[in-house]
Amino acid sequence: MSSLSIASYFPFTRVKMVSQNVHDRGALIKVQPDLRWRPLCHECRSPAGTVHSQGHRRMIRDLNLADRQVWLEVGYRKVWCEHCRKTRVEHLSFCDSPQRLTHRLRRYVYELCRLLPVADVAEHLDLDPKTVKAVDQEFLQEEFGQTDYEGLRVLAIDEIALKKGQRDYLTVVLDYESGRVVWTGEGHDQETLDRFFGGMTGPQKSALQAVAVDMWDPYINRLQHHCPQASIVFDLFHIVQGYGQVIDEVRREEVRKAVGPMKPVVKGSRYLLLKNRDNLRPDQADRLDELLKLNENLSRVYVLKDQLKVIYQYRHRPAAQAALDDWIAMAERVDNYHMAQFIKTLRRFEYGILNHCNFPIGTSRLEGVNNKIKVIKRKAYGFHDPVYFGLKIKQAFPGDAKERKTTNCLG
Ligand SMILES: [Zn+2]
Repeated sequence: MSSLSIASYFPFTRVKMVSQNVHDRGALIKVQPDLRWRPLCHECRSPAGTVHSQGHRRMIRDLNLADRQVWLEVGYRKVWCEHCRKTRVEHLSFCDSPQRLTHRLRRYVYELCRLLPVADVAEHLDLDPKTVKAVDQEFLQEEFGQTDYEGLRVLAIDEIALKKGQRDYLTVVLDYESGRVVWTGEGHDQETLDRFFGGMTGPQKSALQAVAVDMWDPYINRLQHHCPQASIVFDLFHIVQGYGQVIDEVRREEVRKAVGPMKPVVKGSRYLLLKNRDNLRPDQADRLDELLKLNENLSRVYVLKDQLKVIYQYRHRPAAQAALDDWIAMAERVDNYHMAQFIKTLRRFEYGILNHCNFPIGTSRLEGVNNKIKVIKRKAYGFHDPVYFGLKIKQAFPGDAKERKTTNCLG
């Protein structure tokens, strides 16, 4: 007779395994209360006075064993709890009362959801996607549900479109120094930032030295209200993002104006114009060159894209001011309404561009966060749930605690 036993794979306390039955699709393991222990109330965990009834059964899914799904057929009792003054289900150490998955299976679902889209985890484990998402969200809520406002000095605020072509946004607040996402919230208006600052104490607000943000009035208004001492910085990342829209508008107008063979050349150029030149294939770079030779407005707009970076190279305010003035002088030669609007915006917000000299907030961290969030969005696709999406973002950016203490972007 074999002495092989699977019991050690199920180190559950206060119960005993009474039988196992392995068939094609799964393994069924019967579990009974170990009568040497007094049952506990599942609600308050106090030892129960008397057993109210027994012989109740529940099917609970556990981690797979080899290639089989494992189901526990759990016998349990209902007990009279003196403490609750109620009849209660007895406590099981491996599964919470209304759940149909063991703790360790739920933990495994959560770990997998860190790596894979919900739909893939559901398929892999043969679970309902709604169950998978609910498990993931519950763990996330526990770990990241609270906002930690400690130690913030430099923030970066960004907004992410939730659905393409719609006006639903998620605002993301990043601790620029540690890379931790501090907070996410639906919307991108004044009220959104009021919710963020609502959880902050006075001293925490006063500790803020700088905030990198888009040239967006509702945000700026609330920053000036909640932390007037903090310098508002319009960082290069957000400026380039805004300028990307100008390029797109100029291109659209040139498509409308183009005739004959020029039309297709201009029309298919969006990608070429917006992408970094270094990331283009040689044939794409050739097409871009041809386009720029043929169209003067597009050519100017394109050159100005690179020139924006020059403004941000200076730490000396008057030098940055001169570079900004030069840029605007060049931009004024582009005949386009959207460009004219952009120039006006730059002039209005030039204080925040020059603040970059004092708080040189770089683009790479902001760009990295933005790109990674787009990936998370694709993974969480199918669940248009901003709360869940926000928690996934916080999970992806826990920040580097050590870095937060030792490095200082302020020099
Ligand atoms: Zn109780």
